[in-house]
Amino acid sequence: MAQVRLEKVTKKYPKTEAVSDLDLIVEDSEFMTLVGPSGCGKSTTLRMIAGLEEITSGSLYIDNILANEIPPKDRSISMVFQSYALFPHMTVSENIGFGLKIKKKTREYILDRVRWAIDLFNLEGLEYRIPRDLSGGERQRVALARALVVEPKVLLLDEPLSNLDARLRLKMRAELKRIHKQLGATIIYVTHDQVEAMSLSDRVAVMNDGRLVQVGKPLDVYNRPESKFVGGFIGSPSMNFLDGTIIGRSNAVFFVTKDLELEFPKESFSNNFGTIDQEVVLGLRPEHINDQGSTKAKTTGTTTAIDVVVDVVEPLGDRDIVTVTRGETVLTLLFSPESGAVPDRPMKVVFDMSKCHLFDKKTGVRILKN
Ligand code: ADP
Repeated sequence: MAQVRLEKVTKKYPKTEAVSDLDLIVEDSEFMTLVGPSGCGKSTTLRMIAGLEEITSGSLYIDNILANEIPPKDRSISMVFQSYALFPHMTVSENIGFGLKIKKKTREYILDRVRWAIDLFNLEGLEYRIPRDLSGGERQRVALARALVVEPKVLLLDEPLSNLDARLRLKMRAELKRIHKQLGATIIYVTHDQVEAMSLSDRVAVMNDGRLVQVGKPLDVYNRPESKFVGGFIGSPSMNFLDGTIIGRSNAVFFVTKDLELEFPKESFSNNFGTIDQEVVLGLRPEHINDQGSTKAKTTGTTTAIDVVVDVVEPLGDRDIVTVTRGETVLTLLFSPESGAVPDRPMKVVFDMSKCHLFDKKTGVRILKN
């Protein structure tokens, strides 16, 4: 397995710059996910690493060797796409062993490796089937087995689960995690699904508009987004954003909008705010605004309860997604089913201000330092 390093990697097409100045190090044995909205340059990045797309400028190193000019077949990289691209006329075993046959490995070696892969991906009993007679999940496992059997230095996965139904996607997600743990493979994974990115990866690299906007461990990115974009993209339901002003008044600091006024806990603003009277965007995740009666609300340390009106309740079983309004402000919240939220009824909610994020109104860059 190997480290992959991109230095100022840029890809220009005649009409678009798909990837701009990308600096990223994927460590040996790391599971790194490139995540971001459609069209942000994830696949192009992956294809440049695979050698399927020329790098316009910048450097790509695989195991500290400059790889820009190395042909794809000599990069020791395997790639699995959204469409598994199995050979339709070959059996499962033949599909898995194909790459080794091309490499002119001995029959015994191929048999041995194919058996290993069949076992690893729980494909026993399916060895002689052709892809047409397999389920989507089984085909996906064959594609992964085929990619791994050649012992690539790096495994590249481009939205490999997006053709599967929701249940199977969850199963394959766990499977991928198990295989990564077992093999210690360097994996670079591309998805637009932030839940997939969060749940699978050692680190996530969030991209937007061809640029890398934040890289870090999933929970670090979740808890400390460096920009409004990342705060809004990572997490579901999305972070609530409120435009307002920071105001200092009688030894306390408040966040004020047309519809509400929230006091910051003393400890969170000691050295944190740039300027009082600054216009900011406050971000607060749905799970950090609680109904006043809940245990969570009682432990937040703030006592400011705000009156809101419930608009919509979406029960998910274990919790409800609740949309509430106050004046023109709309908030999405996550309540336990016992909250008693009923459409059109008023209720009181408590903001856990120790969990809030502040972003510059113009640039979207994080202001709050904690
Ligand atoms: P993502 O994988 O994040 O959805 P892509 O890497 O596929 O995004 O695309 C990034 C940008 O580059 C998009 O604007 C896309 O339209 C453009 N692009 C991708 N491939 C080509 C191509 N072969 N020719 C021209 N533009 C392309």
